[in-house]
Amino acid sequence: MRDEQPASPDPTPPEDALAREALALAAFDHVVGRAPGFRAREGQREMAAFIAETLAGVKLGDDSVSGEAGRPDRGIAVVQAGTGVGKSAAYAATVIPLALAQDKRVLISTATVALQEQLIAKDLPALAALLPQPFHFALAKGRGRYVCRLKLDQLAAGEDAGADLFDGEGGGKPLGDAAQRTQQYAQWTMALDQGDWDGDRDRLAEPPEPALWAPVAAERHTCTARHCPAYNGCSYYQARNRLAHAQVIVVNHDLLLSTLGLHALPKPQDCYVVLDEAHHLPDVAQGQFTAHMDLMHTTWLDRLPKAFDEVAKAITHAHGVDLNEHARGARAALTDLARLGMAAVGPAVRDLASESPPLTHRFEGGALPTDWHEPLAALQLHAGVLLKLAEALAVQLRANARENPGEATRSAEHYARIGRFAPRLQSLHETASLWLQAAESGAPPLAKWLQAGVMHGMVTLSAHACPLQPGSLLHHHLWRHVRGAVVTSASLVTCGGFDHFLHEAGLAWDAATTTRAVQSPFDHAKQGRLVVVQTAADPKDVDGYTREMLDLLMTDLRQVTRGALVLFTSRVQMRAAIALLERGANTDLRERVLVQGEASRTVLLKRHAQRVADGEASILFGLQSFGEGLDLPGELCEWVFITKLPFASPSDPVGQARADWLKAQGRDPFSELVVPATGARLLQWTGRALRTETDEATVICYDARLLRQGYGRRMLQGLPPYRLQRRQGQQTVDV
Ligand code: SF4
Repeated sequence: MRDEQPASPDPTPPEDALAREALALAAFDHVVGRAPGFRAREGQREMAAFIAETLAGVKLGDDSVSGEAGRPDRGIAVVQAGTGVGKSAAYAATVIPLALAQDKRVLISTATVALQEQLIAKDLPALAALLPQPFHFALAKGRGRYVCRLKLDQLAAGEDAGADLFDGEGGGKPLGDAAQRTQQYAQWTMALDQGDWDGDRDRLAEPPEPALWAPVAAERHTCTARHCPAYNGCSYYQARNRLAHAQVIVVNHDLLLSTLGLHALPKPQDCYVVLDEAHHLPDVAQGQFTAHMDLMHTTWLDRLPKAFDEVAKAITHAHGVDLNEHARGARAALTDLARLGMAAVGPAVRDLASESPPLTHRFEGGALPTDWHEPLAALQLHAGVLLKLAEALAVQLRANARENPGEATRSAEHYARIGRFAPRLQSLHETASLWLQAAESGAPPLAKWLQAGVMHGMVTLSAHACPLQPGSLLHHHLWRHVRGAVVTSASLVTCGGFDHFLHEAGLAWDAATTTRAVQSPFDHAKQGRLVVVQTAADPKDVDGYTREMLDLLMTDLRQVTRGALVLFTSRVQMRAAIALLERGANTDLRERVLVQGEASRTVLLKRHAQRVADGEASILFGLQSFGEGLDLPGELCEWVFITKLPFASPSDPVGQARADWLKAQGRDPFSELVVPATGARLLQWTGRALRTETDEATVICYDARLLRQGYGRRMLQGLPPYRLQRRQGQQTVDV
């Protein structure tokens, strides 16, 4: 049968776009045709062909290249790949051969560790075994996952490298006594020396306490890189060297965005970029580009003048800066801001406990009361002067290390000492500058908010600022550098179109973007039913609706004979369901139920699988994270119960600020933001039901607004074509 399979793709570098397109598609056919258990999947080949066509004309590297006649020299393929398409094989088997043929590299970014593990442990080794061109692949992790040998050696020797910052902050030393910590650090040093550990935090037998790890984590600001005396044995740079030899690098969205411009990964203009699980990208961008500063912990500023002064003297750097005045000025400004902040958050801060959710106070329209301006301006000034000096000292220290190799150790120690202050000064300067920024006419204002909480029994207060549109951030920082990309997920289409995602992701105005929705190979109408239940109570009547819905749910759960998943929209709703199971007529059901949070997710899923394998009923109760991430094929999930439409109402300060701004523009945030985001969530939730082409499952949604309201019907348009039914009382009819 071998000779019926596609021939091996020609490894000679293709000359033109049509040849590149043919090469990519031939490589895909070659690989999937030889994969164990191969079965032709129409949607998968459609996706591969679309990617090959979009990327074939792309010219990587040189921004000035113009396209060949009739072909663009940039291409971004946005692909919605329904469940079961096999999207990772579709992109990997086309993009990687295309890159290898041109001696280029591929950056694959995902949102979850689970997908990274699948790529590294399964998909890429399988592809490497089938492709005629050999290639190396590697997983890129952030610096902070690796130990800094220089800091570790200092701490293992009993020197407190973090003393400038940590003494007296956050209620004392972060963890245990000094002797215990020194002993732990000494053990890690020994493990490194003996080759028992490679310095990767994830490879320690037990995950270390964050407070123990933080002082020894490798970080940019304290690192002189190749001028460091520990460079040759540095775990982070050894991992980076491995990346330099990899043609395919797997990364996560956070790391991809946080390292743009830092040369830690290949530049996006020089490689093909694949963004899988791309529906997470806007949220990750929002988080990445939020500036924040701590208003309560300020004693580190008292230690700054001595540290800077000693380093400046040691390297005879004449700076003329009055360190005490600026450090005192910054601290006084922070004290004023903390006082104003506490007053703004209000008296509720006194009732905060460790387990309480943080309190937030948002400044509507990004407008600050006038008494905030003076301390913010003072903070911006003082932090700016100190930051500039830190940068000047760092420049001289790097030069010293380069020019006087004999002094490298001293220089690296001084550099690390200054570098520990730099991120804090940077966050003060950046946040104060953003808080002082007024909205330009016609442009959305910045979201500005305070957040109060409790940590180790102490009240915390921080100030945050963030631009309102993740799309413009992504355009500015990512897309304008990208030449060729695949952007994919099973949930990019909401309410029947790509518009919402393209706007949120900053691709709506990029002429290089083309979209394709590739259908799932599942026969949804045959394999699945979506039953919408009409309740007597309106879902807006929260108590009445919850009572009625839970009664119906209890009855429905009795039909479950194998696996089922119940998705709740709030913890309160889930607790009310558990309370019902623990009393009266439903106690027999309780033992069939496994509740999110009662044990780790891995343990719960193991128990669930075991019960189903033993022929028992097993029902998982969960919230949003179970609605997105669970893969429960076959009998593991024959029923999905959706207790209410999972409205993604903006409760966070950025979402609220965006809604306010849209309203001020005469636009409708419910229609523009809430409905598409809820539609995307509903697509994920219902998507738990069918995971393979032989699955059969029923989704029951108790919220009849899905059929009754116009916005509900918009959400329905974005769902696969299940057999749709309405249930009222005992009667169920097709819709
Ligand atoms: S090179 Fe940087 S991260 Fe590595 S040991 Fe030296 S200072 Fe630490």
